[in-house]
Amino acid sequence: MSYDSENIFAKILRGEIPCDKVYENDHALAFNDIGPQAPVHVLIIPKGEYVSSSDFSATASDAELAGFLRAIHAVAEKTGVLESGYRLIANAGEDGHQEVPHFHVHLVGGRRIGRMIQRAD
Ligand code: 5GP
Repeated sequence: MSYDSENIFAKILRGEIPCDKVYENDHALAFNDIGPQAPVHVLIIPKGEYVSSSDFSATASDAELAGFLRAIHAVAEKTGVLESGYRLIANAGEDGHQEVPHFHVHLVGGRRIGRMIQRAD
């Protein structure tokens, strides 16, 4: 799948759409999800044009990979969930129910968030 530069996160990165920024470094931006599903629900995205986690893992530079992972830690620290715990979710493709085609990780916490996978039925 080729990268669609008109996706909503690309527009946020270009500053065309505002976001509620939580953290930023050279390679990643983190902002609150517009429809939070937990008291803490932050999206962490790489600044580069990557569609999915596979795309990012396979083709990003070492600096981008490191910057992205460091951003996840910084967000966990900044939102106060390091001790209480949190979950990272990266949806990919149709089965994974990925809605925005720019790689992102959801960091959710601030309450007990239950079992890992909900049954679809
Ligand atoms: P996905 O299903 O692709 O993993 O999740 C996309 C997430 O992006 C959803 O949780 C949705 O609420 C969030 N989202 C969609 N549009 C916007 C937006 O314009 N701003 C922000 N902050 N989040 C958005």
